[in-house]
Amino acid sequence: MRLIILGSPGSGRGTQSQRLSKHFNIPEISTGNILREGMALGTDLGNQAKAYVEKGEWVPDEIIIEFMHQRLLQSDVTGGWVLEGYPRTAFQAEELDFLLDRLEQKLSWAIYIEVSESVMMERCLKRSLKEDDPDIVKRRIENFRESTIPILEYYDRRGRLLTLDGSLSPDLVEKNILNSLK
Ligand code: AMP
Repeated sequence: MRLIILGSPGSGRGTQSQRLSKHFNIPEISTGNILREGMALGTDLGNQAKAYVEKGEWVPDEIIIEFMHQRLLQSDVTGGWVLEGYPRTAFQAEELDFLLDRLEQKLSWAIYIEVSESVMMERCLKRSLKEDDPDIVKRRIENFRESTIPILEYYDRRGRLLTLDGSLSPDLVEKNILNSLK
């Protein structure tokens, strides 16, 4: 199973990606987590990404694409994966397709967890009290609109997009995803 999880900040994307990873026993590759870890440890990738992540901007395509390219060649992911936070731009989506073609692998589904703008803001601002500056949260939501919506169209045109209601409880969202994958 090779899955991409798409959704705005506050859509529950991270939670569902962890659950799917566990359910199908496939590794979760979360670019946000990898970048945060890299920043904390001061790795090359983390140092390159830091200034962008801290402003809520996308890390430049060439940095993240090269990283994911190397990651998807590693032996632990030959049996499948759940990608969370990648692709984030149409260019990243195209590059991922090229790579999968070369590896003779196919994407199973891109799963879009949809929430309304008000749910998005409400969940994010709740979280931002602990984590982030509200201005950065707003910037992430704007980035989502600009970059991720074209990706939904990209996968929809290829007949690979599943859209699910993310306003429900995490258990129900998971159940609905698993049902639609059957
Ligand atoms: P996330 O936790 O997925 O929201 O990611 C946190 C931050 O990491 C984002 O705001 C970006 O700065 C960066 N990031 C994560 N994934 C990507 C990606 N695929 N392309 C560019 N930047 C990314």
